[in-house]
Amino acid sequence: MKKISILGSTGSIGKQTLDVVRQHKDKFEVVAISANSSVDLLLEQIKEFKPKYVAVYNESSYIKLKSMIPSDINIEVLCGMEGLKTISSLPEIDVLLTAIVGMIGLVPTLEAIKAGKDIALANKETLVCAGDLVMSEAKKMGVSILPVDSEHSAIFQCLNGENNKEIEKIILTASGGPFRGKTKEELVNVTKNQALKHPNWSMGRKISIDSSTLMNKGLEVIEAKWLFGVEHDKIDVVVHPQSIIHSMVQFIDSSVIAQLGCPDMRLPIQYALSYPNRIECDFERLDLAKIATLTFENPDMDTFPCLKLAYETLKMGGTYSAVLNSANEILVSEFLEEKIGFYDIPKYIEKTLEAHTSIEKPTLEQILDIDKWAREYVSGLIK
Ligand code: NAD
Ligand code: MG
Repeated sequence: MKKISILGSTGSIGKQTLDVVRQHKDKFEVVAISANSSVDLLLEQIKEFKPKYVAVYNESSYIKLKSMIPSDINIEVLCGMEGLKTISSLPEIDVLLTAIVGMIGLVPTLEAIKAGKDIALANKETLVCAGDLVMSEAKKMGVSILPVDSEHSAIFQCLNGENNKEIEKIILTASGGPFRGKTKEELVNVTKNQALKHPNWSMGRKISIDSSTLMNKGLEVIEAKWLFGVEHDKIDVVVHPQSIIHSMVQFIDSSVIAQLGCPDMRLPIQYALSYPNRIECDFERLDLAKIATLTFENPDMDTFPCLKLAYETLKMGGTYSAVLNSANEILVSEFLEEKIGFYDIPKYIEKTLEAHTSIEKPTLEQILDIDKWAREYVSGLIK
C-alpha cells in the first residue's frame, strides 16, 4: 500500500490523481489532501477518501471547512503554509504528489524532501524557480523526483535502463496550444476565453494560459534540464498537434525512443505512483490506424516569445528562470482578470529580467526574496 499526500487535491491534476486512487484502492491510500479554498470539494473528497489530514491554505476557508465537517468524521484540519508543510512531511506517507499551482509549492516540496519522501511532481514551477536546490536536496536525501508532467514522464520512460550520459538530445513535444499557426497581428487582441480553449487537454487556468503563450513549453524545457541533467542546447521543442507522442530522447548512436499514448494525464500520474511497476487500467487505448497521421513542425518563437525567453534564462543561468516564473505568475493572473493584453506577458517579463541581478547558487531564502522582488517589480510595471 503506497501512502500519498496531495498538495492541491481539488485542481485538475489533484482530481485525476484521486481518480487513479479510486481505481486502485488496493494499492494506494490517500493520507492527506489540501487546497487553497475549495472547501465544498474538499469535504466531498474527505467523505470519499477518508484522509487523516486536510490542509487549507486560505484562513477563512479553513475556518469554514472546520465548521462543515460532520462530528463523526475523525480528521485533523490544518491551515496555511504550516499546514501544507505538515502534510508534506508526515511520518506515515511514502510520497507527496505536488498538484498545487505556482512556486508556492516550493517550500512544502523541500520540506517533504528533507523528510525523505519521494515526490511525484506535477508542480513544474518548483523546479523552474529552484531546480538546482531541489535536485541537490533530493540527491542528498536519496529521494526520487518522479515526473507527472506528461512530457517528462515520457522522457523518464524513454530513459528506463539507459545511461543519461548517452543522451544526445531531448525532444519535447508541444501541442502548439490554441493559437498554433496564428500571426502576431491576429493575437494582439485575443481574450482570455480564447486563450483558455486548449485543443487537446483540459487543465487548470494558469497552465492553460501558459500553453497559449508557449510559456508552458518554456517552463518544461527548464524542468527537463533539472530532472534529467541535460543542458539547454540539448533540449529541442517540436510542435506535434495530435499530442500522441508525449516526448522523445535521441541517443548518441542516432536512435530515437518515444513514448506514445492517448492524451490522458491519469497515465503519467499513475506511472509516477506505481513506478517502477506498471499497473492495469481502463484508459483509452491508442488506435494508430484511426489517428492515421502524426505531424510535426518547428515552434514559432517570434509569435510566441515566451518560449524564447525561457531558453534565454536557462542560458544565462543563476536566478533568471526564477524571475521569469514569478513575473509570469503575476502576468497570467492579470491577463485572466483582463487587465493586460496577450503580448504584455512577454513584454513585462523581459523588462523584469533586464532589471534583475542574478545570483549564481541561491539559497532558499534568496529565491524567496527574489520571488517577492519580481512580483513587486512586475506589478509596478503594469501600473
Ligand atoms: P488547477 O488550477 O486546476 O489546481 C491547482 C490546485 O492547487 C487546486 O487544488 C488549488 O486549490 C491548489 N492551490 C492553489 N493555490 C494554493 C495555495 N496557496 N495553497 C494550497 N493549495 C493551493 O491546476 P492544475 O492544472 O491541476 O495544475 C497543477 C500543477 O500541475 C501546475 O503546476 C501545472 O503546471 C502542473 N501540470 C498540470 C497539468 C494539467 O493537465 N492540468 C499537466 C502537467 C502539469
Ligand atoms: Mg506538459
